[in-house]
Amino acid sequence: MGVAVLDEVLEHVPAERVLRDPAVTAGLSADQAVWAPVGVPLAVVRARSAEEVRAVVAACYRHGVPVVPRGAGTGLSGGANATDGCIVLGLDRMDAVVEINALERLAVVQPGVVNDDLRAAVAEHGLWYPPDPASSPWSTIGGNVATNAGGLRCVKYGVTRDYVLELEVVTGTGELVRLGRRTAKGVAGFDLAGLMVGSEGALGIVTEVTVRLRPLPPPAVTVAGHFDSLVDAGSAVRAVGAAGITPAALELVDRHCLQAVDAWKNMGLSVGAEAVLLARVDEPGATGEAIADRIVECFETAGAGWAARSTDAAEAEALFAARRLAYPALERLGPVLTEDVCVPKEHVPEMLGRIEKLAAGYDLTIANIAHAGDGNLHPLIIVAPGDDDARVRAQAAFEEILDAAIFLGGTVTGEHGVGLLKRGGLEREMAPEVLAMHRAVKAALDPRGILNPGKVFDPVGQSTE
Ligand SMILES: Cc1cc2nc3c(=O)[nH]c(=O)nc-3n(C[C@H](O)[C@H](O)[C@H](O)COP(=O)(O)OP(=O)(O)OC[C@H]3O[C@@H](n4cnc5c(N)ncnc54)[C@H](O)[C@@H]3O)c2cc1C
Repeated sequence: MGVAVLDEVLEHVPAERVLRDPAVTAGLSADQAVWAPVGVPLAVVRARSAEEVRAVVAACYRHGVPVVPRGAGTGLSGGANATDGCIVLGLDRMDAVVEINALERLAVVQPGVVNDDLRAAVAEHGLWYPPDPASSPWSTIGGNVATNAGGLRCVKYGVTRDYVLELEVVTGTGELVRLGRRTAKGVAGFDLAGLMVGSEGALGIVTEVTVRLRPLPPPAVTVAGHFDSLVDAGSAVRAVGAAGITPAALELVDRHCLQAVDAWKNMGLSVGAEAVLLARVDEPGATGEAIADRIVECFETAGAGWAARSTDAAEAEALFAARRLAYPALERLGPVLTEDVCVPKEHVPEMLGRIEKLAAGYDLTIANIAHAGDGNLHPLIIVAPGDDDARVRAQAAFEEILDAAIFLGGTVTGEHGVGLLKRGGLEREMAPEVLAMHRAVKAALDPRGILNPGKVFDPVGQSTE
């Protein structure tokens, strides 16, 4: 099976981009979810064009070989992890910005364009692409579409889904199709482009993306608050929402994260607080300053030991830079099991309280970063390397956190996707009828079940020659 499919692939893709040396392919076979299982691929193919992607998927369809799409591999759920005998299809070399259209306020890009690079390219035209995952220096737009990535600014400006207009996609039968539209409005047919967003490479492989753009936002004012209790910080998040304020960012970083960033980058951030909230307000002038002052009030009323509007732009930037560095800083301490639950804002304090109790109950270190304004919490369970007993406890705590989020009316994944890590959680979150609808859609678009099998839910098709 392996030789036959590779012979066909090599008719369409030059041999130097069909990688088979296990020492090389191993480095391209996993994402950042270090707890998720990883298989051994048959090959890694680094595509340069939609036609190459189409030809590879068509060959895999004929031979029943699994295809695992891969962007930059920054995923946190195992979504891009190889399955045994698959072809990992790397899209990162398809990295051209095809069009920037200021009149229509849109950009057309290949899937391998890095998120920050798109933002920089459109900024030259006075335009802005808002979705900004903390992985924006590395993650690709194709990966962002496949995971419906969120980010820091999404609390006000929406997630990737809100910016996808049109997609070019290769289906599980190896057909190249265009879905969606370029126009401001359009309701012809079902929203199949929307269906692809967040489908984690299990319904199609994205080969081109047309995104909506906005004008550049005005400069932002930053508010910081220090809290002696994680739950009080959660109450402040709820208070900001209850006050009817929609900040341009509202992030939480706890003591564990600040200490880890300080130990790594020596930024002088460890302020002695249990948690820090960082808010951004980007309404212009006096309006923005008034909203920032109201956020300070919300923080103080909720119990902040200190809260203030930042007067120093460099200091404000450093605080947000520290937020973005929190995850890699924690990874230096040991394998991190990353959660991504999202709960209604009113339940943020209770969810944070439950996480603290689970950490104590299971005798685990659970650090917290959060896109708090969205109720999207990232408890990060850290286990010392080689501590197998703690690994077992961490896995149990992981599942209990998922259950707590479901209990509070939330979801097991706000932005990272189900991948391999949250398949059990998905089964508990969704009604059997709704899971059946998922399987029916999968069977329609990927009848042999070759696209990213085993991710999100178990495969429905046969992967046989
Ligand atoms: C430090 C750090 C911070 C992060 N912060 C955030 C955050 O704030 N918000 C957030 O949402 N995520 C965040 N993430 C998670 C991750 O960056 C996102 O999920 C991102 O969208 C993945 O992009 P990628 O290019 O790395 O995709 P990969 O990890 O390569 O793949 C992710 C998934 O998409 C599929 N895929 C990739 N490309 C394609 C394609 N062209 N067509 C079809 N399927 C495809 C893969 O099969 C896989 O299922 C963070 C990760 C790290 C390491």
